Amino acid sequence: MNRMLRWAAVLCIALSVTACGKAGVDAKRIEAAKASDWLTYGRTYDEQRFSPLDQVNKDTVGRLGVAWWASFDTDRGQEATPLVADGILYTTTTWSKVFAFDAKSGKPLWSYDPEVPGEKGFNACCDVVNRGVALWKGRAYVGTLDGRLIALDAKTGKVAWTVQTTDPKLPYTITGAPRAIKGKILIGNGGAEYPVRGYVSAYDADTGKLDWRFQMTPNPTGAPDGAASDKIMKDVASKTWSDGAWKEGGGGATPWDAITYDPKTDLVYVGTGNAGPWNSKVRSGGKGDNLFAASIVALRPDTGEYVWHYQTTPRDDWDFDAVQHLMVADLPIGGKTQHVVMQANKNGFFYVLDAATGKLVSADKFVLTTWADKVDLATGRPVEAAGARYENGKEQEQTPGALGGHNWQPMAFSPKEGLVFIPAQTLYMDYADPKEFKFIPGAWNLGLGPATLSPSHAQPAPFGQLIAWDPVAKTARWKADFAEPWRSGVLATAGGLVFHAAGHKFIAFDAATGKALWSYDTGAAPIAASSTYSIDGDQYVALMVGFGGAGGMGGGEPRRKGRLLVFKLDAKVVPTPFPAPIVQPPLDLATATPSKGDVTKGAALSQQFCVTCHGAGGYLPVLARSPVILDPVGFKAIVLEGAKKPHGMAPFRRFFDETSAEDLRAYLLSEAAKPPPTGAPQMTHGR
Ligand code: CA
Repeated sequence: MNRMLRWAAVLCIALSVTACGKAGVDAKRIEAAKASDWLTYGRTYDEQRFSPLDQVNKDTVGRLGVAWWASFDTDRGQEATPLVADGILYTTTTWSKVFAFDAKSGKPLWSYDPEVPGEKGFNACCDVVNRGVALWKGRAYVGTLDGRLIALDAKTGKVAWTVQTTDPKLPYTITGAPRAIKGKILIGNGGAEYPVRGYVSAYDADTGKLDWRFQMTPNPTGAPDGAASDKIMKDVASKTWSDGAWKEGGGGATPWDAITYDPKTDLVYVGTGNAGPWNSKVRSGGKGDNLFAASIVALRPDTGEYVWHYQTTPRDDWDFDAVQHLMVADLPIGGKTQHVVMQANKNGFFYVLDAATGKLVSADKFVLTTWADKVDLATGRPVEAAGARYENGKEQEQTPGALGGHNWQPMAFSPKEGLVFIPAQTLYMDYADPKEFKFIPGAWNLGLGPATLSPSHAQPAPFGQLIAWDPVAKTARWKADFAEPWRSGVLATAGGLVFHAAGHKFIAFDAATGKALWSYDTGAAPIAASSTYSIDGDQYVALMVGFGGAGGMGGGEPRRKGRLLVFKLDAKVVPTPFPAPIVQPPLDLATATPSKGDVTKGAALSQQFCVTCHGAGGYLPVLARSPVILDPVGFKAIVLEGAKKPHGMAPFRRFFDETSAEDLRAYLLSEAAKPPPTGAPQMTHGR
């Protein structure tokens, strides 16, 4: 070995093997978008979720079967998109755990558990989910539910660095996948229901040093943050807020999902969450647009410098987060090719924006949308329906509601068909203006009153649609209807297929016509989007299975251990059937210690603190069926002191005392005496 080579070898050992020869995933590889790979959340930087692979196609898809599968140790919502690079498949599960498999054989290679404290589950509005990792130069990066960003060695799972991206005292969460852009790892956060103050951060991929941060709302103290957002906050955003409860929580606008980089414009597009509290009257005196909540914001990835924004829902009153999948594409509009960003927003409109300037190209309803008549293309603002804002003690029943016409579930685009496939849903919701409002630090603060209207008039039962949306013609070319509103994300392939799951069925549709060509019974309802890759001449399709998330918390499915199913042609592996769900039988109330608590007060506490997770549909244990409520001592040990913290049940001592805990128990005992809701699924008590 000559001196130079020996020196290189020493450097390689010192710097880690990945620095030498095997560079891992980088910008060149992501931009080259080799058909066999799935290197970033949306496969490529434009996040079209379109794979050029076509071995599995309209003719062969009937031969698709399970090649290998894996079972996980968590039984709540699985939202991750599996990534594949250099023969390794990376995925994440609930509680921000990371798993690496041999992508061909399914052999487990390593796993990493960040050991998120169970009580942090209370800070997650919408389940303890995680949507996956980012890959960059020999490392895998994960954001954790308690706000950490962690760099792992992609070969071994060993921790390279960890940073806390949020104030751990505040109810921030991370559920979104990080993105690796120009040597930086970008990550947002969630928590706009509590609310917190949203921001996106960029960390140096090598060292974990904070490169820049962009706040999505002004600092309530009026002081600059020393962040990339300071100038635009002072010049523009701060003037769009008035006095109100936003000053206590920071206004929301949390960028908890979409972060899309476009190498062509060298811009990163970030979708921001709802304004918080939801009710604009209590939030900001009903005044101002409240920037940059419910917006799409374009930033320079090198510096975090503001370039443009488009607010989809000015002065949001309805939880209309604008975090849904942001996709970049070239579309033939008006006789020329236009480079655009697209979003099927929670608010029911499909937006097409010029990628360089943010100028609105079109905005059209893709689902039944009653809160606004249209978007004025000249001003870019919605033309709201009368009464939509439920002001002055009024109520408003409308669709979409807080779950949106489309939520986080990724769309897919087929450039061959010129279609965007939207996993859409239609659900009505009732919004009511409260008589009074008091901000409770650390808890949900929506600013809504008790709703009484729903359903006050004829409305369709909740349902779902996979919509093949033509963004040029601004209309649907085909739709597939489902009884289930809350379903999976979407994958499109050059094989002319669109993969989507509804209920327990994983379905391959003909992308051109919407005809179902193949389906597979997954045994549980997937909500994640599938991905596809190829190794040694075989095309694989990978799907995480596990029901939950915002639309799953209300019930509809028992909790089952998460699974990864990986398909290829002519494979015939039969996964073990899921065990039958554990039934929570009605309680024997003769064994209960009677309660002298105030049932009415207990009902209010249940509404404020319990039903989001322990609703009647029963995603988490149905409290009126839990033996825990029979005995005041055990009940208080859990509710006040946190005896079930490891399972995700936070202690509520900070919110209520012995008297209120007993009021809650009195209410739950009164509910237990009523007949059980029919068809309510019953739950396991896992983590
Ligand atoms: Ca929200």
